[in-house]
Amino acid sequence: MQVSWQSLYDEIFACEKCELCRRIHNKVPGQGNVHAKLMFIGEGPGADEDMQGLAFVGAAGQLLTKMIAAMKLEREDVYICNIVKCRPPQNRTPLPEEAAACLPFLRQQVALVRPRVIVLLGATAARTLLREDFRITREHGKWVEKKGVWFMPTYHPAALLRDESKKREAWNDLKLVMEKLKDLEAQENGGFEGV
Ligand code: SF4
Repeated sequence: MQVSWQSLYDEIFACEKCELCRRIHNKVPGQGNVHAKLMFIGEGPGADEDMQGLAFVGAAGQLLTKMIAAMKLEREDVYICNIVKCRPPQNRTPLPEEAAACLPFLRQQVALVRPRVIVLLGATAARTLLREDFRITREHGKWVEKKGVWFMPTYHPAALLRDESKKREAWNDLKLVMEKLKDLEAQENGGFEGV
C-alpha cells in the first residue's frame, strides 16, 4: 500500500532502526519536486545537511546545484535525497546493514515521486540500488533499466570536488540523462515539459 508523504516523513523522523540516528542533529529525508521526472540519490547527509535537515546543501550540494543548472534545470524541478537519512559519523560510508535498514524509505520515496530517470551519485547509491560489487569508476555512464525506470550511475559531487579531472566524465553522463529525458518526453508525445 502506498503511504502519504506526511506519514512517510513521520516514519523517517521517528525511525531508530539503525545506530546512525544516535548522534545526529536532524534527519534528512530529502526534498524537491514530488512529481519530478528526474531524481538524484546520493549517499548520506554530511555536516551541513545534518545541521539544516536538508539534502545536498553543503559544498557538494552547491556543485550539484551547478550540475543541475548545466542541465538547464533548477533544483525545484528535481527530487534529491540520499540512501541513508541520518549522517554517518565523520561522514563515513554507510554500512550495508545501515543502507538496508533505510532502504524501505527510499523505495517509498521513489514510489511516490515516480521518476522516469534516477541519477545515482556515487558508489554507495549504485551498490545499494544496482549491484553490491558496482565499480563507479569503471561502470558509470551506463544505463540500467528496472521496471521502466532508467538509472544512470555517475560520480558523487564530493568525488568531483576531490578530483576535478572527473568532472568531464560526469558531465558526459549528465548529457546522456538530458538525452534520455528528451527521448522519454518524445515517447510520451509531449506529455511533459521539462521535468
Ligand atoms: S539512517 Fe535510516 S534506518 Fe537508520 S535510523 Fe536513520 S532513518 Fe532510520
